[in-house]
Amino acid sequence: MEKTVRKSGGRQRRAADRDLDKHVRELRCLYDIASISGTPDITLETRFAEIVKALPRGFQHPEIACARIKLNGAEYRTDNYRPTGRRLSAEIIVGGDAAGTVEVGYSIAPPAMETGPFSKEERLLLDAVAERLGAITAHRQAEKALRESEERFSLAFRASPAMVTITTLKDGRYIEVNDSFTQLTGYSREEALQLTTLDTGTWPHAEDRARMVRTLESQGRVRNLEVVSQTKSGRSLTGLLSAELIDIGGEKCIIAVTMDITQQKQFQELLQSISHSSPLGIYIVQEDRLQYTNPQFQKITGYDQSELQGRELLSLVPVEDSDVVKSSMVSTLQGGNPYPCEYRILNKTGQIKWALQTASPIHYDGREAILGNLMDITERKYLERKVIEYEELSKMKTDLLATVSHELRTPLATIKGYSTLMLDYFARLGGDEIRDYLKAVDYSTDRLSKLVDNLLDTSRMEAGLLKLDKAPVNIPNLIRNVVEEAGVRANHHKIVLFFESRLPRVNIDARRIRQVLDNLIDNAVKYSPPGTEITISAEKRPRELLVSVTDRGPGIPLEELTNIFDRMYRIEQRLYTGADGIGLGLYICQRLVEAHGGRIWAESTLGQGSTIKFTLPVNAAGRGTRPRSRSRQ
Ligand code: ADP
Repeated sequence: MEKTVRKSGGRQRRAADRDLDKHVRELRCLYDIASISGTPDITLETRFAEIVKALPRGFQHPEIACARIKLNGAEYRTDNYRPTGRRLSAEIIVGGDAAGTVEVGYSIAPPAMETGPFSKEERLLLDAVAERLGAITAHRQAEKALRESEERFSLAFRASPAMVTITTLKDGRYIEVNDSFTQLTGYSREEALQLTTLDTGTWPHAEDRARMVRTLESQGRVRNLEVVSQTKSGRSLTGLLSAELIDIGGEKCIIAVTMDITQQKQFQELLQSISHSSPLGIYIVQEDRLQYTNPQFQKITGYDQSELQGRELLSLVPVEDSDVVKSSMVSTLQGGNPYPCEYRILNKTGQIKWALQTASPIHYDGREAILGNLMDITERKYLERKVIEYEELSKMKTDLLATVSHELRTPLATIKGYSTLMLDYFARLGGDEIRDYLKAVDYSTDRLSKLVDNLLDTSRMEAGLLKLDKAPVNIPNLIRNVVEEAGVRANHHKIVLFFESRLPRVNIDARRIRQVLDNLIDNAVKYSPPGTEITISAEKRPRELLVSVTDRGPGIPLEELTNIFDRMYRIEQRLYTGADGIGLGLYICQRLVEAHGGRIWAESTLGQGSTIKFTLPVNAAGRGTRPRSRSRQ
């Protein structure tokens, strides 16, 4: 019994010894792995190669145990490693992802064991090793990433074309500066590190720096602050500064990046002064809206910049010219040749200004835009018009002279010819002959005096000297008188009168409206064949009286219907050869009718005849006349 007890006590001790031995092995293995992980200055590869060698020592039969680590595509194994079925493996997790495996096996079959080739503790040990390997890898990777990002930062710091500085927040002492800083300010790195930003003139005024510091503290950052600094040589340097706060060794510091915009600034100022002093109106348009205008543009349009900002350019252009402006914009944006175009601008006071524009495509504020230059050519346009008017006038004078001299010479020749004939041969001439000659002299004299009257009337009207002596007149009576007197001239035509009943009187200058009727009857006689009919009618229209003179002549072509009222306009004499005149009759009629507040126009069917119609306003008080109609041969 005692023996049995002793025997069983010995077995228990041996088991306890084995357990202890196992724990010691495991602990040593873990200790080895921990100390390999903590060894400074060795690479991850060496670390894993060491760990794989240490691993078998933690297992029950280290002499035949082998191990392998597979991680991120690399493999580390003991010399005796053999892939066998007697393997224990654990996954290595890095940053939540499976990155590899660690495995322990026996290269040859181990002695028979109660719990299979691997114990529960060995599994726990391998899991603990896998976890440790995962942690080492993650740590190393993080270190590497940090190192890389530090390298990147320092590269960016050194190589940045902008000035980068790190200064203390408290007093602006330089902690670090980059090459651009030393090049642009003229201070070497060593000099700068002895100084503050106030000493170097980065901030010539302490209060400006204090203001920037306040913004940094309240908003955590400063962006695109324009700063004018001094360089070591006293040159001024304009920069665009962005800054943030960082912590360096427990001290609050400012990391600032400053772009040198001195040249841009100078260029911008140069452009601004050119634009301000330019005699041209300059504008920038983006999506049809004005974004910039210079003082001259504001002068042309009469609006100030605040009124023009954001306004559509086309809102300044009269509708008639908007197509010109639109197509110029389109072709400019499409990169076509900037061709000059002329258009009108309706300025603030309602005046029309003429502009000559050239435009080019530009980039403004990061988007495509149009830069337009306008020359105010209002004065030039005015002079051009005056020149045209002058040329027209002088041509008209030449024409007038030619026509008038021809028109004067013909009746004068008749008068001279017949009177000389009568003087020379008076005794030999019979009474009938003398009467015929005197008739011709009489007709030519009338023609001359009419010509002189027309010329005088025209110049009087154009000088604004036409005066109307108005009185209420019965139009049918007036027409009858005119026809009566025209009888001699119109004795080859049949004149038919037609008056509507109860025509009201009109308030007119009878002498002047008579002159109108005279001219119209003369034309009807002149431009229609003898023996045909001429109808003169008068009818009532709402608030006006309409008078028409119709002939049965060849008519007036449609395209000439309005021209014939122009001064000195005559239709090509193809149709009426021999009809004299200088093109002033209808012009005078129009001026006289319009002076009375009426209208005059022509209607015609070619081959059938023409009708010239005119109206005279009737005032409410006009009284009617008796109905009557009559014809005369
Ligand atoms: P003029 O008769 O002296 O040439 P007007 O001013 O009276 O000048 O007429 C202008 C032109 O209009 C004439 O030259 C003629 O060609 C045309 N015209 C005027 N009246 C008539 C008409 N009744 N029929 C056809 N043509 C006419």
